[in-house]
Amino acid sequence: MASPVPLLSLTSGALIPQIGFGVFRVPPEETQRVVEDALEVGYRHIDTATGYENEAEVGAAIRASGLAREDVFVTTKLRNDHHKEQDVDGAFQRSLDALGLGYIDLYLIHWPMPANDRYVNTWRRFEHFAADGRARSIGVSNFLIPHLERVLAESDTVPAVNQVELHPVFAQPELRAFHERHGIRTEAWGPLGQNKYDLFGLAPIRDAAAAHGVTPAQVVLRWHLQLGSIVIPKSSSKQRMAENIAITDFELSAGEMAAIGALDEGRRVGGNPEEVN
Ligand code: NAD
Repeated sequence: MASPVPLLSLTSGALIPQIGFGVFRVPPEETQRVVEDALEVGYRHIDTATGYENEAEVGAAIRASGLAREDVFVTTKLRNDHHKEQDVDGAFQRSLDALGLGYIDLYLIHWPMPANDRYVNTWRRFEHFAADGRARSIGVSNFLIPHLERVLAESDTVPAVNQVELHPVFAQPELRAFHERHGIRTEAWGPLGQNKYDLFGLAPIRDAAAAHGVTPAQVVLRWHLQLGSIVIPKSSSKQRMAENIAITDFELSAGEMAAIGALDEGRRVGGNPEEVN
């Protein structure tokens, strides 16, 4: 049996399983089955968002699993069109109701949308959700360093995580170092590059896979883990779900980590947070 998934502590004091399961682009009619499969395979951390339109099905799968509420870590996110002062509280409560799990483990601002200049005000509302316990931890997503600097300067709470695009061709070393200095956990979305590059064909990844007798996807996910990041790979296939969580029983050498790190081209597959508004 594989070693258990490591738990990382957050600024709130809560623990987050370092390997989670993402449900972006999982259609609502498939979500309950997919999440039930993920829980069966051993995932105890599910990442959804209001914008994915499958929160209710994620909640239904967790309730149907028979697992204790405290044994599953659930993240959801505020949608971009809910930042207006009068919208934030209602949007949060609707997520809470849709999930039907009593509380949310981690609530994130999905995108900063800097042109609207609302993210600091939104963050202050998030502080209330943490204070009243409806969100056990609060964090952000797609924040660049200047956005984080403002949140740190203008509020009392350090974001528990910043969930950002991160994979070997977009490795974000400066942002990760900033997080580390401030106690913010790095969470990698698109950890496999969303299948938009032939990451798995790149020599350092292929070679490490052959050396350890694992798949290239496992090498990429293991690279994230050894950098200290949280990963939330997505797959609708139960076999790949199992593959993606079975990454705790081998270790990449310093040389392999460096060779994979050298693939960084600073190239995003997703939107630039400065321009998503
Ligand atoms: P990903 O990098 O996890 O790639 C997913 C794709 O990789 C799958 O569709 C599948 O085709 C393929 N794949 C998965 N496992 C594989 C394996 N073992 N071998 C070969 N191919 C495999 O991309 P993602 O789904 O976009 O990101 C993961 C999660 O991150 C999402 O589901 C979502 O929860 C989150 N996310 C957040 C944001 C954000 O703005 N905060 C943006 C995108 C995604």
